[in-house]
Amino acid sequence: MNLCELSLRGFRNYDQLEFTAQPGVNLIVGDNAQGKTNLLESIVYLGSGRSFRTQKNAELVRFGADFADITGKIYSQERQQTLRTVLFPGRRPRQLYRNGVKVKSAAEFNGVLSTVLFCPEDLMVLKTGAAARRRLGDQALCQLRPNYDAALTEYHRILEQKSKILKDRFDCPQLLELLPDYNLRLCQVGALLISYRARFYASLGEAASVYHGQFSGGSEEFALSYKTVSTVQDTMAPLAKLTEDLQEHMNIHAKAELESGQCLTGPHKDDFDVTLSGLSVKSFGSQGQTRTAAISLKLAQRELMRRESGEEPVLLLDDVLSELDPSRQDFVLNQITSGQVFITCCEPGRFTKLGQTIQIRKGQIL
Ligand code: ATP
Ligand code: MG
Repeated sequence: MNLCELSLRGFRNYDQLEFTAQPGVNLIVGDNAQGKTNLLESIVYLGSGRSFRTQKNAELVRFGADFADITGKIYSQERQQTLRTVLFPGRRPRQLYRNGVKVKSAAEFNGVLSTVLFCPEDLMVLKTGAAARRRLGDQALCQLRPNYDAALTEYHRILEQKSKILKDRFDCPQLLELLPDYNLRLCQVGALLISYRARFYASLGEAASVYHGQFSGGSEEFALSYKTVSTVQDTMAPLAKLTEDLQEHMNIHAKAELESGQCLTGPHKDDFDVTLSGLSVKSFGSQGQTRTAAISLKLAQRELMRRESGEEPVLLLDDVLSELDPSRQDFVLNQITSGQVFITCCEPGRFTKLGQTIQIRKGQIL
């Protein structure tokens, strides 16, 4: 799939932008704070209906503008398609159009413009907190499996309601009667999340270990393990069993939750760990090993998406190449011989020869 043309109105620091992209490498060059990441953000948002920087759509609208419009012409699924999203600054809901027809949710955009974003924070994802790893997994899974996206949204909605009930347990004790219903639904939806994640992480780990093997010349054995709540022994178990396991876990923590007034544990705290030849990267990985393992994970994510849809997702490298030493740069660049790529950097340097260069200054193309 290729993004052919992108047009922005009132998005972030862009008043108006029209831009024709190359099917291969597009290099976006500019000083700090000129709009390079904003441009990538608009592409991710157009394809997925989500920003990787904010949950608040209103923040995407240019300060003082009445609306933001992102429109893209995309070649995918063997035809030319258009996606358009219009966002508003207040509470007014966004509008989505696929090929000129208004659609209800971003799920209907699925598969038209899939993206894999790689930014410098991702390089240390195996060292930092679990939240960053969950985000990485969730972003990939939501694109791969629209039903997972829906389940995740529902899970967080129920969790939020349960949190409110627990928080107001003294002021509104009558609401505690609802708790068993919420708990059951949380366990059912949570079981679905675990089931999707277990399969996804198994494939991701397998694909990443191949990249890591090439990278390390076969000297290190890469392995990924998915971690969820302790009562779940087998993450591949049928949904009914996973639901039971989660209920058991919830019962163990029920008293503590009531006492603390908070939702304590559950699949919303899931994590994954990568080991290299048996040693955890989180605890023992060197800088280089941590980065190499992260690159392998990202390339694996791209490969899973390619396998799933038969199309190469658009790869977005935000400032990541300049963070890598030459041998890692080469490894990444050698892996992106096919498909469309957007690369941002401050200094064009050695990347200029890779493809079309677009210079950005203050939200405009020079
Ligand atoms: P760097 O090289 O430092 O990463 P960048 O070119 O990637 O810089 P961006 O993050 O794309 O920079 O753009 C940042 C600029 O966009 C900031 O100066 C910020 O103030 C501006 N900006 C962000 N949101 C909005 C908005 N809603 N309206 C207007 N300007 C905005
Ligand atoms: Mg940036």
